[in-house]
Amino acid sequence: MNEVIQTDRKNKLEYNKLHKRLRRNVGRAIDDFKMIEDGDKVMVCLSGGKDSYTMLEILLNLKASAPVNFELVAVNLDQKQPGFPEEILPNYLKSIDVPYHIIEEDTYSIVKDKVPEGKTTCALCSRLRRGIIYSWAQEHQCTKIALGHHREDIIETLFLNMFFGGKMKSMPPKLLSDDGKNTVIRPLAYCKESDIAKFAELKAFPIIPCNLCGSQENLQRKQIKLMLKSWENQFPGRIENIFRSISNVAPSHLMDRGLFPFADLTNDLQINRDEETLFDEPVIKQESIASFDQSSILNVKSLN
Ligand code: SF4
Repeated sequence: MNEVIQTDRKNKLEYNKLHKRLRRNVGRAIDDFKMIEDGDKVMVCLSGGKDSYTMLEILLNLKASAPVNFELVAVNLDQKQPGFPEEILPNYLKSIDVPYHIIEEDTYSIVKDKVPEGKTTCALCSRLRRGIIYSWAQEHQCTKIALGHHREDIIETLFLNMFFGGKMKSMPPKLLSDDGKNTVIRPLAYCKESDIAKFAELKAFPIIPCNLCGSQENLQRKQIKLMLKSWENQFPGRIENIFRSISNVAPSHLMDRGLFPFADLTNDLQINRDEETLFDEPVIKQESIASFDQSSILNVKSLN
């Protein structure tokens, strides 16, 4: 009996800590990127996975005390995958008294029909889904579309684009659609996946499995995930540093001529002192220094 009470207490403490941290990170991201403004109607896209449940929960919580007025509507796209448990999301959304809508579109059959057997279906499926979501947002005067991507999704996408696309780009926290009609926001951009996973477990969200379509999880993303995990195990803090680096870009020390006027550089051009340093001091957490090869730090510094 005592053990049960202690576990409950421990879980409660952990829950409060996580909730506070997620709320703080979402609030900071919203603020930093001006994601939500007074009068916004936010379409919160729910897939039934841990990330989107967490996003909705934290947005509802922030809405209750936000200094601005905004509306939230939870929306799920039922893509008619065989075995999709249709009643789970409506039941959950009714239980927390949130306005919601379920869009029903059989993209599953279209994808199965168009994509040859054995080929990955995700690209076409995502394109169709995006089109449906954008149209719904337009028809229902939603000013923002909130997606549940988190810090790890952003980093993985960065490496996917670098490794397989030859581009340095990722998922931005705020994005204007190509036709300029929709603004996509990612309120979980600063949140760690592990925090979300633990939070979802403690909240016991009614998770809908994400393999109903039978498509193989994107193998390349899986590999990147493993790579990042093993880096983080070897060098704690590395993921955080990679994440910080994408908010701290020095175009003059890269090679994109569209971002920096290399051709116009002359000797008398004023250069910011900061930009003269080839390598900045490494920002490494104390605990990770012990496991880091000291000589590599020295080599980096000696190039300054
Ligand atoms: S995993 Fe299935 S539902 Fe998800 S994008 Fe791929 S094909 Fe679509």
